[in-house]
Amino acid sequence: MRSVDEHLTEILGAVRVLPPLDLALLEAQGTVLAEPVSAPVPLPPFDNSAMDGYAVVSADIAEASESSPVTLPVVGDITAGDPAVSAIRPGLTARIMTGAPLPAGADAVVPVEWTDGGAATVRISRPAPPGHYIRRAGEDVREGQVVLEAGTRLGAPQIGMIAAVGRARVTVRPKPRVVVVSTGDELREPGTPLGHGEIWESNAYMLTAAVVEAGGVGFRQTTVVDEPGKVREMLEDQLARADAIVTTGGVSMGTKDVVKEVLAGTGTVGFHKVRMRPGKPQGFGLLEGTPVFTLPGNPVSAYVSFQVFVRPAMRAMQGLPPEPLPTVTAVLAEDITSPAGLRHFLRGDLSFDDGVYTVKAAKVQGSHQLGSLASANSLIVVPEDVEALPAGSRVSVMRLPS
Ligand code: AMP
Ligand code: MG
Repeated sequence: MRSVDEHLTEILGAVRVLPPLDLALLEAQGTVLAEPVSAPVPLPPFDNSAMDGYAVVSADIAEASESSPVTLPVVGDITAGDPAVSAIRPGLTARIMTGAPLPAGADAVVPVEWTDGGAATVRISRPAPPGHYIRRAGEDVREGQVVLEAGTRLGAPQIGMIAAVGRARVTVRPKPRVVVVSTGDELREPGTPLGHGEIWESNAYMLTAAVVEAGGVGFRQTTVVDEPGKVREMLEDQLARADAIVTTGGVSMGTKDVVKEVLAGTGTVGFHKVRMRPGKPQGFGLLEGTPVFTLPGNPVSAYVSFQVFVRPAMRAMQGLPPEPLPTVTAVLAEDITSPAGLRHFLRGDLSFDDGVYTVKAAKVQGSHQLGSLASANSLIVVPEDVEALPAGSRVSVMRLPS
């Protein structure tokens, strides 16, 4: 038997960050930057107007008021992208649109709402101090400033930022390509009828979706029957295309535990009993350099194993810290018990009321009971040395991706 931490340490010691890849910007969504991105020019690149209005010399309108407006000639229109008027002198004004470059000589913008909106001349009824409604060059980002550090996951704002500094391509850590395959003679494809003793295959669907939630690209493979030759063939086929392989089933102590039979002693793959519930039988190792995770077949065991071991490994492959699922401290709504010596992951219902997280364990916790996982939003983590926790205790709770 080994601890959860020992097993995870072995995994994280074996997986490698994926080599960087140069991608077009929109293809990089969800990947992780492998380089810092900096701004070649300041942003904004030039002083410009923050409003639709009139560019003025502020001293000209210092005395303007509702009762005695100041009237100025308008020398032209400056629109964003068309700096038709490059300068004004005292006593003149130019109509200016949001984002248009401020003409030389002007030191303030009067919003159109403070004027009569005139085209040839304009009546201005309020003063504006120097700098008013001007967006200065570099006030968003300075020239040369690093706007995104290496190791940043690229969501929508980050993709926007990279475009805004003029980059069409970026160097990133690609999304890990994870092949997911279930094993078991009893498994049938959803959408086909069941015979006696058969069940619909669900693990590979669930884990392929979990791979995507963890930032990877998931490839669900056709289920493999419990024959060593078929398992071996599948692994050989998949090694070429995968950054990691996840199997489920066939790793416990039964007579048809073919995954274990085929992989034990192959590459660096080892099988262990891990002190956790659910998810005790685990296998992991490198096969021709590719990480292979052999997870148990019971659906909840497979899912918890994925979140506890595969997800952190996938993060490490992307150059991210291998942190666990987002975890909060919550107050237990009801008493719970937990087996001695095992880290216990209980399906829970986490809620947030009056500024406090409260969590209630699901009534059923069998590792085959996918129903209670599908209606849970969290996993309560009970440490190895704890056997009972009364209602009101504080516990760590991992939020499940939703
Ligand atoms: P095994 O680890 O192969 O002995 O499987 C343990 C239990 O999980 C058995 O009840 C299997 O029928 C079930 N099981 C295994 N693989 C899957 C799967 N892909 N989808 C749903 N149930 C599964
Ligand atoms: Mg099986």
